[in-house]
Amino acid sequence: MIRVKLKRDRFSARRGGGSKALDVFCNKCNNVVIIYQKDGPGPLLRCYADRIIYPKHYLSEGISYVKEMPKLVCNDCNAVIGIPTRYKEHGEDRLAFNMIKAAFKKKVSKQVRVIN
Ligand SMILES: [Zn+2]
Repeated sequence: MIRVKLKRDRFSARRGGGSKALDVFCNKCNNVVIIYQKDGPGPLLRCYADRIIYPKHYLSEGISYVKEMPKLVCNDCNAVIGIPTRYKEHGEDRLAFNMIKAAFKKKVSKQVRVIN
């Protein structure tokens, strides 16, 4: 169990708050690929690198360019579940993954306990 404090900033505020931690599973083998802070309602179209709670290396510190980013892959079966992108809209400029809809499932995380 990981204890996490969810990030609250202008990005979460713009999405109306209501953030939660999700386990994102590989659709092929059910492995948890990432634990992710989802801000606001709606489907998971994109995962921002700065919201990936686990594993830490996706936090992309020191990575400034989308071409330096690895694809988001399942570390068990190597299925690709997200493609690196740079989100530049609404005054934001963030590294992210465009999620491949058929490649993953998500559930409210059982791996983390959210603290406030
Ligand atoms: Zn897998």
